[in-house]
Amino acid sequence: MPLSIDLHSHTRASDGSDTPTELIGHALQAGIDVLGLSDHDTTSGWAEASDAVAGSGMTLIRGIELSAQVIDNIPGAIPRSVHLLGYLPDPHNPRLQNETERIRRHRDDRLRLMVDRLAVDFDITWDEVAAHIPPGATPGRPHIAHILIEKGFFEDTTAAFAGPLRGDGPYHVPHYAPRLRDAIEVISDAGGVAVLAHPYTGERSGAVNHNAPIEQILAAYQVFVEAGLAGLEINHRENTEAGKEVLATVAREFDLIVTGSSDFHGAKKPNQLGENTTTPQQFERILERATGCEPLS
Ligand code: AMP
Ligand code: FE
Ligand code: FE
Ligand code: ZN
Repeated sequence: MPLSIDLHSHTRASDGSDTPTELIGHALQAGIDVLGLSDHDTTSGWAEASDAVAGSGMTLIRGIELSAQVIDNIPGAIPRSVHLLGYLPDPHNPRLQNETERIRRHRDDRLRLMVDRLAVDFDITWDEVAAHIPPGATPGRPHIAHILIEKGFFEDTTAAFAGPLRGDGPYHVPHYAPRLRDAIEVISDAGGVAVLAHPYTGERSGAVNHNAPIEQILAAYQVFVEAGLAGLEINHRENTEAGKEVLATVAREFDLIVTGSSDFHGAKKPNQLGENTTTPQQFERILERATGCEPLS
């Protein structure tokens, strides 16, 4: 049996529904051999996950999913949000700590503003939302979704995100995030391996304009590769099929690491552990490149 390697998952330290201990339990049940823990903008789930994985036979790759943004060099361009996975960075690296603290602080302000706007039309309060965000966790729109669902306004997270939580709607407030090039440098400086998460989920998504001719796409990616981008998460349920082909061409051109992952969020999303996986060969390349901390088992 080949190893089952799933390098992207979330806990209650960000917008997942499992505690780190529950996540490890679910991954063991799902037959995962190597699990990447990648909460948004925090390493606060690492300690509990490390304890839970000890002696289990499974390997834990400590990671993070850093919020970042890309702004096209055209007048009036609106920043696009992108996510950068960082594997095995040094959690004590000052630049990584400062940047994640800054993002979390701005996310907190932004979520309060969104609740203020929503409270005009929906009977919700900040105290209700805050009550189920654990200390140190990264606040996000799914925490508002939780209360909107609990109070009967929406059936599930998907419906809440299709409604008032959508990114182009009147209630939305953006939050600070570093430019992608800087985010790649933050991860690399901390000895981590930078892999672009779900890089091509649709028409106007991702770090570059994927509708451009391939030469332009490659030129755009070159900037990120030169900043230290090591890989692309190609096998992810939200990448389009056409997008995966473009991304495979980019990966070949720059000899990038190719990963596949579930992006498991527990009960909050349909993604199931192990639904996409990374080959042992590609996983080895991550281990060879990482210098920030060690895999744990
Ligand atoms: P935020 O980081 O606060 O902007 O919220 C985005 C997060 O919400 C992402 O990390 C996703 O995991 C989650 N999310 C986005 N869209 C959906 C959706 N349609 N259903 C469930 N979760 C979603
Ligand atoms: Fe998420
Ligand atoms: Fe993501
Ligand atoms: Zn994720």
